[in-house]
Amino acid sequence: MATKKPAKIASNKKGTRNKKSCPACETDMVVSKILRDTGPSGMFWLCQDGKCNTLVAISGARAGVLNF
Ligand SMILES: [Zn+2]
Repeated sequence: MATKKPAKIASNKKGTRNKKSCPACETDMVVSKILRDTGPSGMFWLCQDGKCNTLVAISGARAGVLNF
């Protein structure tokens, strides 16, 4: 018989679905509704650091930096 590989279960879900850390500065991010004239609008993760303002799409894709 072929060697049996142990099934690996992804364990990065720890009940923190509503929390995300900024990929740039690791500050907590919050879901915000962003409306922009140039670029996609909708719900995004927004970095809470006022100097960073990194924006990440809910799907996980980096969406740039929000300029106020
Ligand atoms: Zn940040």
